[in-house]
Amino acid sequence: MYIVEPQRQIPVIWEGDLCVAGGSATGVFAAVRAARLGLKVMLIERQNCFGGVATSGLVNVWHTFRDTERKKQIIAGLSAEVARRLEPFRAGYVDWADSYCFNPQELKVELDKLMDESGAEYLLHTWYAGLQTKDDRITAVLVENKDGRGAIKADFFIDATGDGDLARDLGIESYTHENVQPPSACFLLQGDMEGLDVQDMIRKYGTEFCLEEDWGWHNDVPRCPQVSMRADTHVFGLRCDRAEDLTKAEVEGRRKIRAVVDMLNKYGKKGVAYNNLASCSYIGIRESVHYKTVYQANENDLLQGLRYEDAILNGTYGVDVHHANRGITFRFFDGTYRVENADGTVRRGNWRKEKGIAPDAPVPTYYQLPFRCLVQAKWQNFIAAGRMLNADTGAFGALRVMVNLNQIGEAAGVAAYLALHHNEAVQELSGTEVARTLSKGGSANLG
Ligand SMILES: Cc1cc2nc3c(=O)[nH]c(=O)nc-3n(C[C@H](O)[C@H](O)[C@H](O)COP(=O)(O)OP(=O)(O)OC[C@H]3O[C@@H](n4cnc5c(N)ncnc54)[C@H](O)[C@@H]3O)c2cc1C
Repeated sequence: MYIVEPQRQIPVIWEGDLCVAGGSATGVFAAVRAARLGLKVMLIERQNCFGGVATSGLVNVWHTFRDTERKKQIIAGLSAEVARRLEPFRAGYVDWADSYCFNPQELKVELDKLMDESGAEYLLHTWYAGLQTKDDRITAVLVENKDGRGAIKADFFIDATGDGDLARDLGIESYTHENVQPPSACFLLQGDMEGLDVQDMIRKYGTEFCLEEDWGWHNDVPRCPQVSMRADTHVFGLRCDRAEDLTKAEVEGRRKIRAVVDMLNKYGKKGVAYNNLASCSYIGIRESVHYKTVYQANENDLLQGLRYEDAILNGTYGVDVHHANRGITFRFFDGTYRVENADGTVRRGNWRKEKGIAPDAPVPTYYQLPFRCLVQAKWQNFIAAGRMLNADTGAFGALRVMVNLNQIGEAAGVAAYLALHHNEAVQELSGTEVARTLSKGGSANLG
């Protein structure tokens, strides 16, 4: 059944060069890069803060900025700049795995400041709600916020909504993987966890709390003793790009958080009170839909370390696929892999050996991604940047982490600038120029 929405006049609330929808670090870094190059930029974000999963989702780890030998810095740009900016507040540190752990509350403030200093404009509590096109270009996006419905006109648009809301409305061909990585509701736990393993406890006592066997992880929060960021459980069997499933996932995620805390209070350390200090503002969505571009990233090229003239990203994070039906698979450059099942069993092997790769063939210390992975075939003034990226299951498992998506955001901002500067369609841009411009702006060893 349908109803017809009457025609109405929508006020144009902003007009400029670039509109970015979605303000995770991916969107913020796109906006800041473009603003620093001189574009007039507007960023819209539906939450009350920037950062996406890193802040609203409480996930506080950016993986290493160095290659696997930990000798060479391969990621710089805005990720490294933000890490430096958090230093005076002692809101971040590098851990044993050379990853950068931060306090999401401080990251929010630093992203605000980064945006303000760049001159990019922004609206929080503002939803992307639709778009208008003419020929093969987007002319405006429609937004909803406390002022009602408004239009934003720009010459270029970046979709950093995670799910690819603009790409969906543009009708770009999409696909979902057979294994869609399930979401997790993260929370901040107060209480001494030394020597406790939540996964073991779930295996032992889970049924009493309606917790199924699972695979999870946790992390410290800088300067917050006895507080840990918990990602102990997943919500299975729901599609988070669908409103009803997303609603169920939020409720089930919260129920599981309560169940974990109840379990700890009953079977954790004697005399310790375990508390949920804060739940994520929205459930952490690892994966939903992917949109086709002219190049699909694939695990083979990635883990064999192919190099590109139009590289926009350097990364080391291995393939990390959370199973849609519980458990996890890791695959690394050196050939090793590990499949951990929810029942605690583990299978190990060597994919290089299994593929017949000569034992003395060089093992790369980082991978790259070419610019064409962001270029879709039709829309001249549009790029989607974020976890909707065009990648097979394994490549997505590696590329989906934030240090990688941060770089993709930066590349999208630079590409928007070059497209407007040269008056070219995104399909006509020189990827090597994008890579060179990224390097000039502080990204490490690209181009
Ligand atoms: C539980 C969990 C643990 C993870 N662990 C790690 C880890 O340890 N390290 C790591 O690097 N990565 C990790 N990841 C992966 C990583 O966090 C995500 O892949 C990444 O954050 C996705 O970035 P994104 O910019 O595409 O999307 P998001 O971070 O989801 O950002 C999308 C942004 O767009 C906004 N938005 C969405 N729709 C609209 C709309 N219609 N209008 C306006 N705004 C909108 C959202 O509010 C949000 O701010 C984890 C992910 C999850 C879920």
